[in-house]
Amino acid sequence: MSTEHDTVVVVVAAGASTRFGSDKLAETIGGATVLEHAVAALRRALPLAPLALVVAPDRVGDAAAEWEPRGVTVVAGGRRRQDSVRNGFDALRPADDAVVVIHDGARPAVPPGDVAAVAESARDHGAALLVAPISDTVKRLDGGGRVTETVPRDGLARALTPQAFRAAVLRRAWEAAGDDVWTDEASLVEAAGASVHAVEGDPRNVKVTVRRDLEGLTGDRVVPVRVGHGVDVHAFGPGRRLVLCGVELPSPVGLVGHSDADVALHAVTDAVLGACGGGDIGVHFPPTDERWRDAASGRFLAHAVALAAERGWRPAQCDLTLLAEQPRIGPHRERMIASLAGLLGLPEADVGLKATTCEGMGFVGRKEGMMALAVVTLARV
Ligand code: MG
Repeated sequence: MSTEHDTVVVVVAAGASTRFGSDKLAETIGGATVLEHAVAALRRALPLAPLALVVAPDRVGDAAAEWEPRGVTVVAGGRRRQDSVRNGFDALRPADDAVVVIHDGARPAVPPGDVAAVAESARDHGAALLVAPISDTVKRLDGGGRVTETVPRDGLARALTPQAFRAAVLRRAWEAAGDDVWTDEASLVEAAGASVHAVEGDPRNVKVTVRRDLEGLTGDRVVPVRVGHGVDVHAFGPGRRLVLCGVELPSPVGLVGHSDADVALHAVTDAVLGACGGGDIGVHFPPTDERWRDAASGRFLAHAVALAAERGWRPAQCDLTLLAEQPRIGPHRERMIASLAGLLGLPEADVGLKATTCEGMGFVGRKEGMMALAVVTLARV
């Protein structure tokens, strides 16, 4: 098992995106940028490793404001990719036996397991890179687009990142290399005569170069699901209706609130908002706003579901628990599930509704009010 405290990470994000036409690292996939996904994958694999993000010199100020609060060291890039890597390395000053993991900021879909595997291999062998096998037949072309040769693909592989090295191996290679140009650090280390160990990685770990590269990444490759949690409480009071999951229940007492006080839908709405990073129900529907007086809370949930959809997410499942001494939920359960399923756009089988008393304890036990707890899973649209 490796230890992480002697591992550092350099993410290179200083390129000009010339083939993409705009800043490809700022393109979003499911609400996060390409670069955020890349950094997150490294962090999931190596949560304790110091991380340097190398950006174009004119972006250092903006990038520092964005990333330094997240514990990332922002470093100005150099003229060539290899200079940028060197700047990131120098900023982290790794000890000679530390492992340095170098990753392209334009590769958002690297699985954390691949990151851990290549770091471990570098720890064992001194130098390692991720590769993907080549399944297509490979042709060499002349400048006019004519095939001049079919290249035997035996033993060929595509070089991916991360690549990882003991710091001493990189230092020696830089000394030996002089000012030659390298497209990746594995080439540099090979040229210096050291052996580089290949670790087979996920072939879908693509480098975003042209716009269509993003298309394959909008599915489940990045983050397949999100989970949100919501809690709400309302007091019982006279002269009020009791509305739960959008269904009015016969009851001598109702719930007090600015809207219809549907405690169940409020908890579910907060769970949806929480899962999609959308704030909370009070931000969207402040109780000081007259528009929401006695409003049907289904509107709030519909708004949250629409916001989630804008951000690339749809409800996949909901589980709701009500805490109350009264009334009995059983007789109304099916109607409540049907209503909630309808609001979430889910089959009823994907909506759970449970109720429990508090055995006479606390505010619920004293029949002063009720509480709702909801968990909602969102999946990619
Ligand atoms: Mg509420």
